[in-house]
Amino acid sequence: MEHQELYGKIAQRLDSLAKFPKIKEERSINELMQENGISRRDFMKWAAGMTAMLSLPATFTPLMAQAAELTDRLPVIWLHMAECTGCSESLLRTDAPTIDSLIFDHISLEYHETVMAAAGWQAEHNLEDAIKKYKGKYILMVEGGIPAGSSEFYLTVGPHGKKGAEHARDAAADAAAIFAIGTCSSFGGIQAAHPNPTNAKPLSKITNKPVINVPGCPPSEKNIVGNVLHYIFFGTLPSLDVYNRPKWAYGLRIHDLCERRGHFDAGEFVQQFGDEGAKKGYCLYKVGCKGPYTFNNCSRERFNQHTSWPVQAGHGCIGCSEPDFWDTMGTFEEPLGDRLYNTLYSVGADATADKVGVAILTVTAVGIAAHAAILAFKKDRA
Ligand code: SF4
Ligand code: SF4
Repeated sequence: MEHQELYGKIAQRLDSLAKFPKIKEERSINELMQENGISRRDFMKWAAGMTAMLSLPATFTPLMAQAAELTDRLPVIWLHMAECTGCSESLLRTDAPTIDSLIFDHISLEYHETVMAAAGWQAEHNLEDAIKKYKGKYILMVEGGIPAGSSEFYLTVGPHGKKGAEHARDAAADAAAIFAIGTCSSFGGIQAAHPNPTNAKPLSKITNKPVINVPGCPPSEKNIVGNVLHYIFFGTLPSLDVYNRPKWAYGLRIHDLCERRGHFDAGEFVQQFGDEGAKKGYCLYKVGCKGPYTFNNCSRERFNQHTSWPVQAGHGCIGCSEPDFWDTMGTFEEPLGDRLYNTLYSVGADATADKVGVAILTVTAVGIAAHAAILAFKKDRA
C-alpha cells in the first residue's frame, strides 16, 4: 500500500476512534505530560521514536501522537497468572514516570490486579462487569504462565476460587485483541521450565483465539506500549514471526544491532568478567552472551527511556525472549558450543568466534581482515 493511502486510512481510523466517548473523564494526555514536566517537544520526539520503531515513515509522527492521545478510548483488561509481576513493574515502576508509563496511566485500564484499588468480591465483580460492558471491544493483556489440565488448581484466584486458566479463557472469549505479555505468558517461562511441576502453559495453549506474543523477562515498556499503539493504528494483527511475535519488535537478533558487534567481527572478546577486554567494551560472547540466538530489539530500543540495556551494562544477553530459554540457553555465563546461529550458512557462533581468533593471530589489520575472514568462512560453507 502506498504511504499516502496508508496515511489516509490511519487518519480515518483515528478520526472515527476520536468520536467514541472517553472511557475515563480524566486529564488529557497533554495535561498529564505537563504535570510530570514533559514538554510537548519531548512528547513529539517520543512519538517520532515510536513511529520509527513500528517501521513507519517519519511523516506519520503526528498520527502517532494522536493515537497516544486516544488511548483513553481503549478498554484494557490485564490479568495476572503465575508470575513475578516483573512485566507490570517494567512498565509502571520507573523512578520518574516515562512517557510510556504515562500512556499506560492514560489507557482505560479496567482491571489490573497490581494497580486497582478493589479487592476480593469487588475485584471479581469489576472484572465480570468489564468483560460484559466492553464485549468485543477490549484488549486483553495476560501476564504469567498458566497451570493447565489436571493441574489448573495450582493457580486459584479470587473469592470464587476460580482457576487462572478459567479466568484467562473467559476473558479471551470476547476480547478484540489478545496479547501475552512477557515470556511466561508467551512461552510458559520459568514456570514451564523443567520439570514444570504445575504443568504451566503459555496463554496460546489455553485459548484457541489468536494470541500475539510479546516475550521478554520482562519485555521493554516500549514493546508493550508499541503493541497498543499498533492496534490503535491498524486494528489488525501485526505481521508475526513463527512464534507469533510482532516482527517490528522481534524481527532482528540482538546481535544484529549490538554496539559490541564490531568487536565480535574483529574477534575481540571478553575472556572473563573484569579483564582488560571487559574494560574496553569487547564482545561478551565468550562469557555467555546469547545475543546471536535471540530475537528482540533491546540493542536498538534499550530500557528506561533508552538509557541502557544489559549488554551495555556489561553482561551478556541471556536469551529471555526465546521459547524455553531457561532450559535451552543455560549455562548463562558460558557460550553455547553447539548451537547454530546462522541457519543460512550453518555456521555456529563458536566456530565463527574461534576462526576470528585465529585470524587475529595472523593479520595486523585486525578489524577489516577479521571481518573478511568471517565472510570468506561463510562463503566457503554457502
Ligand atoms: S555476542 Fe552479544 S555482546 Fe557480542 S556482539 Fe553479539 S550481542 Fe553483542
Ligand atoms: S538483552 Fe537479551 S536477556 Fe536482556 S532483555 Fe533483551 S532479550 Fe532479554
